[in-house]
Order: sequence, then C-alpha cells, then structure tokens
Amino acid sequence: MDTDKIAALASMPVPPAQHLIDGAARPASDGGRMPTLSPIDGTTLTTLAKGTRDDAAAAVAAARKAFNDGRWSAMAPAARKAVMLKWAALIEENALSLAVLGVRDNGTEIGMALKAEPLSAAASIRYYAEAIDKLAGEIAPTAPDVLGLVHREPAGVVAAIVPWNFPLMIGAWKLAPALAAGCSVVLKPAETASLTLLRLAELGHDAGLPPGVLNVVTGEGPVVGAALAESMDVDVLVFTGSGGTGRKLLEAAARSNLKRVYLELGGKSPNIVFADAPDLDIAAKTAAAGIFRNSGQVCIAGSRLLVQHDIHDEFVEKLRQQAEAMTVGNPLDPKTQAGAVNSQGQLSRVLRFIEEARAAGRPIVTGGGQILQETGGYYIAPTIVTEVRPDDRLATDEVFGPVLAVTPFQTEQEAIQIANGTDYGLAAAVWTSDLSRAHRMVRALRAGLVHVNTYGGSDLTVPLGGVKQSGNGHDKSLHALDKYLDLKSAWIKL
Ligand code: NAD
Repeated sequence: MDTDKIAALASMPVPPAQHLIDGAARPASDGGRMPTLSPIDGTTLTTLAKGTRDDAAAAVAAARKAFNDGRWSAMAPAARKAVMLKWAALIEENALSLAVLGVRDNGTEIGMALKAEPLSAAASIRYYAEAIDKLAGEIAPTAPDVLGLVHREPAGVVAAIVPWNFPLMIGAWKLAPALAAGCSVVLKPAETASLTLLRLAELGHDAGLPPGVLNVVTGEGPVVGAALAESMDVDVLVFTGSGGTGRKLLEAAARSNLKRVYLELGGKSPNIVFADAPDLDIAAKTAAAGIFRNSGQVCIAGSRLLVQHDIHDEFVEKLRQQAEAMTVGNPLDPKTQAGAVNSQGQLSRVLRFIEEARAAGRPIVTGGGQILQETGGYYIAPTIVTEVRPDDRLATDEVFGPVLAVTPFQTEQEAIQIANGTDYGLAAAVWTSDLSRAHRMVRALRAGLVHVNTYGGSDLTVPLGGVKQSGNGHDKSLHALDKYLDLKSAWIKL
C-alpha cells in the first residue's frame, strides 16, 4: 500500500456534506448541521446536514416519483446493468480515497477497510448488475387451456438504514440488489459514518443513475430513520443495526403501512474449539483475528470462545500471544491490525463490559482497558477474559468491541447447549478433525452462518442472515433479490 498517497489523502480537508436528494446536493430543510468526529484523534472531521422529517419525506417523494415514472424501474435491463457496471468501475478507481475517507470517519484499519469497504461494495454492485438481465419470471405448469405467468416486479421504494461498522459493504449489500431489482432507494447512513456512502451515491450518479433513484439523507436515527420507518410511501424497509432499533422499526411499520421489514441484527457468535482441532496455532490466530480485527466491531465477530477442557490452558496461552502481537493504533498505518473503536460512546460501552467482568472476578488474561489516550482517539487493547460463565453478561450481550469471553466445556452436547444458549443466532464456528462431528455441529448450531475450521470467511455467493434475535432477512447471494421483488401471478384463459 502506498503510504505517501494515504498520508496525502488523509491530510485533505473534508468539505461539509449535504444530503443527496433527487440527484442534487441539498442542505437540511431547517439549515441544521451536525459534526462528525474522527475516532483516530477525537477531532471534528467535518459537518453533515442534520436531516429533518421533512428531508426524509422529500427523499421518499423523489424516490416515489422516480419509481412511478419508470426512469429506472422500466429502463431496459441491459442499460441498467451497464450503469451499475460503470458504477462499480468508478468505485474501484476511487477505492483508496474512499477507504481513507472511511477510515478517518469510522476508525477501521486501512488494510481491512480497503478490501471490506470500497472493493467489497464494487463487487456487490457488479454481482447484482450481472443478475439484472437474468431475472426472468416463470410459466406455471397449469392445465392446457390456461397460461399461468409469474412476474417478478420491483417492490417500489426501499428505505435502507445502515450502521457505522462497514458502511460501504453493508450499504452495498442492500443498495445493489434493490437497484438491480428496479427499486428506488432512500438511504440513511449512521450518524458517525455517512461520508463514504454519500460519495458512493455521487459516483452512482456519475455512472448514470437517474435523479431520485438513489437518495441519501444524513442525520439522527430517531429523526430521519424513524420518519422513513413511519412513512406511508416506503414499501420495503431494510435495516442493519441493533436489536433495540430493529424492534422500533417493526413497531413503526405496524403503525403505518405494514411495509415489509428485513432486519440484520447483532450476534454473540460462539467459536468452538475441540481438542481434535486440526491445527491449534491456526485456530488461535484465526480466533484472534475473528474478534480483534476492526476492534471487534463486526456483526459476526467470534466473541465467545468455547474451548474443550483438555486444551483450555494451552489454547488460551496461544491466544494471549496472538492478542499481544497485534498492532493496535492509527488505522491509517497499513501495519495496524486493529484500529480505533467508532465513537466515544462505543468506547465507554466496551470499557463498562470489561469493568463488570473484572468486578465479578473473571480473570483478564491480557488487555483490559483503553490505550493510546495521548492521541485523543478511541483505542482499546485486545482483551481476553476467561472463566466466563454462560449467564454472565459478557457471554449473553453483544459488546461490539475487542473483548473475547472464554468458556471451557467438556462434551459436544455441553458445547451445543452453551453455544445455543443466547438470544442471538448470527454466526458460529467449529474446529475439529472429525468430519461427522463437524456435520453434526453444523446441524445443531442455531446460526445463519456456521464456519468449519476457519472463522469469518465468506463471499457474495452465500447468504448472510441471522436466526432468533439476530434478524429475519438475508443479505448477499441471489436470495437477497427476493426482498426487493414482488411476485405477481397472471391467470390467462386461452
Ligand atoms: P443502531 O441500531 O444504533 O443504528 C443503526 C442505524 O439505525 C443507524 O443508521 C442509526 O442512525 C439508525 N437508528 C437509530 N435509532 C433509530 C430509530 N429510532 N429509528 C430509525 N433508525 C434508527 O446500531 P449501531 O450501533 O449503529 O450498529 C451496531 C449494531 O449493528 C450491532 O448490534 C451489530 O451487531 C449490528 N450489525 C449487524 C450486522 C448484520 O449483518 N447482522 C452487520 C453489522 C452490524
């Protein structure tokens, strides 16, 4: 990675940002502004338009008009595909500047940010662009005197509310299939990570997205997000974020127009290491990366480590070495392996979990607090807590920070019981050399994604979604398109 280029990009001032509504930059209806801070050093990076309910309504109206007049929804599939492919190429051309902007805004280490943010967003846009001209309806197997047709139609206006941890990747997981399906979108980024999504949308317009097809409204969740959730003119609401907010969105949909709501929520994912794991060194290295990269702010972070009793001490020692070898610090330095947590609020929240575990007498093997305070930024040492009991808050609640809760187990049945013992069901992993056990565990674990002898990998070909209180929809894969399409049957008497 070109460090001079990164430094040059990082020294550029970031101009005050506006909403993007109906293809044009717009201030908030009441002129309101809000600061966005850099977690690298706690300074103000720039200001954002502080959206109002009127701004949300204006964006929904623009999206509705664009949808109804067919400027995108009725455009020839090959033409829509060409726009999206050009968009993906523009994102790739601007990948480093997008990554650096994102790192300054949300603190993810640059190496991970480049791959997981702009390049991943471009890959999603390309993947769904390629699907546009393959989305065919069906002819039903009816009686010979009837022609039964099943049309797949764009669902209409989509509101997408997304979090701060991977704004471009998660944003594109929603925008790309929604736009590929022919919908119009209003996007509401997180308060602390809006800048790159605004830039992504601008690039979309440069590529040829017609005005009103993709709108971005910045501002506070309880104002802009709530207005979108309550709108009578939004057909589909897609969300990634916390369970508490997800619950409010379902309530708002029930109170308004019964819009479809798809939720991608949190996790408390168990990473289960059996004594017959094929390689304990690789397992320890992968487990450390699975909880400490992006400072644990990963929905599928392997935040609970269940280790079989016989190898517990040996494995914890390997993990400790891995954690202590990690370079934590300025996320713009390509050598950094774990950057800053996203905000002062998130820093305080994570430290409270650590203090609670300490007060309960749980051994803290390494880490255990804030570091690099002199920078003004929000850094936490990778932290390993052992002897965590399955009903400790550290084992049941999502921390969303670099804190690993280690719990020993004796038998396969006990591992399953502990692993399934939370309200969440997003991801899990099993490390074993026993093929039968691996398959038994994949079936027994209640999670949307189960890794075997790895942690954290997957690509666009497989869906990501949770069970239980981790959510009710899927991003990624061709299945994601279903959220943005309606089925319409035609029954034609011949
Ligand atoms: P959050 O729920 O606080 O915020 C997410 C988004 O919702 C933000 O844009 C916010 O402005 C908006 N929002 C907040 N209150 C709202 C309201 N009352 N009405 C409408 N919108 C509102 O979550 P967060 O702290 O930004 O994100 C972290 C959470 O996201 C974690 O729980 C994490 O696990 C989850 N997450 C899940 C996945 C997944 O794929 N399942 C991926 C990444 C993150």
